[in-house]
Amino acid sequence: VPAVRVEKLSKRYGKTLALRNVSIDVAPGEMVALIGASGSGKSTLIRHIAGLERGSGDACRVTVLDQVMQSEGRLSRDARRIRREIGVIFQQFNLVGRLSVLTNVLVGCLGSVPAWRGTFGLFTKAEQQEAMRALARVGIAETVRQRSSTLSGGQQQRAAIARALVQGAKVILADEPIASLDPSSARRVMEALGEINRADGITVIVSLHQVEYARLYCPRTLALRNGEVAFDGPSAALTNDF
Ligand code: ADP
Ligand code: ADP
Repeated sequence: VPAVRVEKLSKRYGKTLALRNVSIDVAPGEMVALIGASGSGKSTLIRHIAGLERGSGDACRVTVLDQVMQSEGRLSRDARRIRREIGVIFQQFNLVGRLSVLTNVLVGCLGSVPAWRGTFGLFTKAEQQEAMRALARVGIAETVRQRSSTLSGGQQQRAAIARALVQGAKVILADEPIASLDPSSARRVMEALGEINRADGITVIVSLHQVEYARLYCPRTLALRNGEVAFDGPSAALTNDF
């Protein structure tokens, strides 16, 4: 079974057809780049897979980890539960700036522990150690006590990846996570995504502006053009006209 299956997804915003009959399958453990010009539909597709929006019409269906996220124009009743298995990373504002890096990462536990424990900062030792390990894996263990607003953009994205690890996400959806980063920070974020993909088998779908990062880090690329899948294949076969 695919980790992510999108069938016949179309999305209309007023007169704009943001997605046109998009169907894709992503196998467990794949790392897929989603590329396309600004406005081609990348964010819209990611929001639909994340269960944050539902498609137009009733032909579409989105399945994540063999669970129906939406079908026939309706969000599943289980959407909230399925979302706990999905880590979502945006271009910016992934963290609560005034809270420590550790607390931000521990927020990943909140799906599995009673919310009041998080509110009062009562995480167990084991949870704190797990958060530390996740920070070490993405290479920012030394920032654990800092306020997250003091981190660089790339460190913030890596903290968001650590939070997804602690959350136990089996699928990570990253929407232009490196768009506002310098090249060396961008590489470290992509390497962190690649590492957890390979080591833990987490399925990663990452939207990118730059084709060269897709070629470097993602075996497979999906390219959108005007809301349609214009390419789906090995990133090495990708031409420069996307
Ligand atoms: P990308 O992520 O590739 O830049 P988007 O998915 O953000 O593309 O947008 C695809 C198209 O849908 C664009 O024309 C955009 O303006 C439109 N769009 C996206 N979200 C909305 C929205 N919430 N309301 C209206 N139009 C939207
Ligand atoms: P991206 O390129 O990452 O999609 P955008 O600037 O296109 O970023 O969109 C940022 C947010 O604005 C998204 O949540 C999107 O849904 C919304 N948006 C995009 N286009 C429109 C639009 N034409 N009307 C209303 N909301 C929009």
